[in-house]
Amino acid sequence: MPVIELASDGSLPLPEEIRKSLSLRPGDLLNVEIVDGSVRLSRHELPKPKPAAKPKSVSESDPVDVLQTPMRFIKGVGPKLADTLAKKGIATVEDALYVLPHRYEDRRELRPVARLRPGMTEAFFATIVSAQPMVTKGGRNYFEAIVADDSGSIPLKWFHYHPQFMKRNYLPGRRGIFIGDVSQFAFQREVHHPEVEWVAEGEDLAQVMARDPENFGRILPVYPLTEGVSQKVMRKIMRETVQQYSRSVKGVLPEPIVQRQKLMSLPVALREAHAPDASARIDHLNEGKGEAHRSLAFDELFFLELGLALKRRGITLEDGISFQVTHRYTRELAKLLPFSLTNAQRRVLSEIKEDMIAPHPMHRLVQGDVGCGKTLVALMAALIAVENDYQVAIMAPTELLAEQHYLNIHRYCEQLGIKVTLLTSGVKAKSGVLELIAQGETQIVVGTHAMIQDKVEFHRLGLGVIDEQHRFGVVQRALLKKKGSNPDILVMTATPIPRTLSMTVFGDLALSVIDELPPGRTPIETRIVRDSRRAQTYQMIRGEVVKGRQAYIIYPLVEESEKSDLKAAVQMADHLKQDIFPDLKVALLHGRMSASEKEGVMSAFKGGETNILVATTVIEVGIDVPNATIMVIEHAERFGLSQLHQLRGRVGRGSERSFCILMTGDRRSEDGEKRLEVMVSSQDGFRIAEADLSIRGPGDFLGTRQAGIPELKVADILRDGGVLEEARKEAFALVGADPDLEAPGHDKLKAELMHRWGGRLELASIA
Ligand code: ADP
Ligand code: MG
Repeated sequence: MPVIELASDGSLPLPEEIRKSLSLRPGDLLNVEIVDGSVRLSRHELPKPKPAAKPKSVSESDPVDVLQTPMRFIKGVGPKLADTLAKKGIATVEDALYVLPHRYEDRRELRPVARLRPGMTEAFFATIVSAQPMVTKGGRNYFEAIVADDSGSIPLKWFHYHPQFMKRNYLPGRRGIFIGDVSQFAFQREVHHPEVEWVAEGEDLAQVMARDPENFGRILPVYPLTEGVSQKVMRKIMRETVQQYSRSVKGVLPEPIVQRQKLMSLPVALREAHAPDASARIDHLNEGKGEAHRSLAFDELFFLELGLALKRRGITLEDGISFQVTHRYTRELAKLLPFSLTNAQRRVLSEIKEDMIAPHPMHRLVQGDVGCGKTLVALMAALIAVENDYQVAIMAPTELLAEQHYLNIHRYCEQLGIKVTLLTSGVKAKSGVLELIAQGETQIVVGTHAMIQDKVEFHRLGLGVIDEQHRFGVVQRALLKKKGSNPDILVMTATPIPRTLSMTVFGDLALSVIDELPPGRTPIETRIVRDSRRAQTYQMIRGEVVKGRQAYIIYPLVEESEKSDLKAAVQMADHLKQDIFPDLKVALLHGRMSASEKEGVMSAFKGGETNILVATTVIEVGIDVPNATIMVIEHAERFGLSQLHQLRGRVGRGSERSFCILMTGDRRSEDGEKRLEVMVSSQDGFRIAEADLSIRGPGDFLGTRQAGIPELKVADILRDGGVLEEARKEAFALVGADPDLEAPGHDKLKAELMHRWGGRLELASIA
């Protein structure tokens, strides 16, 4: 029997083992009974929420319904707060349960002032030494209180304050527990706008901490805040919600998976995530490595992957075209090429062939770094379709790129006797192009999204190729597919898609990776140059041009419509022409030019008639001029890393040494610096993409928010990549074994799946 000694303050510290065995957590109440002369402790269960406090439609017996209880039925949530919460997507207790703390604070003990750590939120007990209004050197008013304990002192500062209030409360000699973010300027640590819990005269520190068990003596959850709701209020209502409703959350994962993955039950995981045990490791919690977090993330990712697995399966169940590989044109093309395919190209091509031969539609994503030769692989696939008397649609994101693809493909196909047609919005209806396509007189159509308009009809579309998928949404993919009867779809992207994204956003596509560049490419030397050293950059450009090479100078143009950016590019081109390189040929290319103007500029540059091409980002994807050996990117800090990488891929296409100069302002943020350094140190598109993703987050990374998959509330695909991988494995295995989710117990899985995916799950096999 454990013997417990009363603490010096008379309180009763419960040993860890007892707390554990009663599953006590901070703030719980204890029942103390005396039975037959011995003391019996048990956890005091709070009364269940009164039925009256719930809307009529809710019944205890239906767990899903209980979780739909509106937040206004939570103690402490009035109509106004309920409104505020609902606006932020926290309408029901289920919503609330899944708003997890984004970090945790360690309030298990107070820190001596001398040991307060800059960059951390700390709580400390100290006495006010002095307090008065002050003025900064810059003339800004603030209030300063110096506080101290035995170990040292630290200034507290308020830049927004109520003078009367501060004067009344911050009196020398007064003691308090202060909580705030510790910052450091030069060698001085300070705390701005701390919270305070006053300690009354004669009151003991332990008494104060016991008075507020919500905020002391435990690991504190820190919630993402909603305007108008303080951390304190948030903690209180979350605590209420978790205590009353977490037990109503029913996990539906099959037992073998729970066992294999060593998952906590959802109610326990939720409680643990919102109110971690005092013995938890705070660093693990903050890095999302806690068991509770892993269990919740797994659950969420499992349903995401289950949906994707079913989608994939739905696709593979559809009837599609079973192509025959006759080699008639593909062999011919191989003979025409001045080089042979890389091993990676061969491998990916054989994966594509297998799909095309199969009697189900292909849905394959080919990803590969800039310049790895995706176009050629696509063309080979196109030839297989043509060999089978089918048409092919190749869709590119910009007119410029469509035109370039067209020229490239046309060049080869002409020699093979295959007709290729360009279809962009610039092509007039009366030109007869639409008839050519509808009557099947043209075999390969290269174009922009103009191709998916209603009026475009294909005679017999067998293969759709989408280049640079990240620019197109799921919708465009579906529309292109509708242009034929279950044609094969091949999606290509030069943005190396981090594995985590290929398992989620693109998770219903089969994946091929071209992970090898054609031989003979030399690495590109990348440098960061500040504006003040611009002359040096011009010197380098001149040096390359003298050697007979060509240069790109790129301007950021976030939106084609942004006039000011366009103006900057136009002015710069003029300035370069007149003042810097009057003896050289400088041309300008931007998105507002007509297709024929653009084509003129591009072909002059390709032909070597122009030395320097000043361009906006229309140049980004796919442009191929091997003689260009230097690229200068203005305002490099305004680009995403993946975009910079794509741009950079326009040089280094020949065997000459190439350069990429990233121009930046003279003043840069530390973050910006770190970002651009990645470009200098790496040529590996995958590494750059990973870095880009971790800096910008998935939404920005893809350019637009990709619709079509459920939003993740708990999991963070970057941090939880390992969990994602496990969840995907389990979900795909489950669908492999039970494609219709008919096995005993899987009906619950099916219902939960529908609940999580909402209307987004258009499943052929499980409608
Ligand atoms: P991306 O993958 O960026 O679309 P491209 O298809 O534009 O790359 O190819 C880049 C360049 O490499 C083109 O000039 C193309 O002709 C050339 N190329 C493609 N495959 C090979 C190969 N196996 N060997 C040599 N050059 C190749
Ligand atoms: Mg390409």
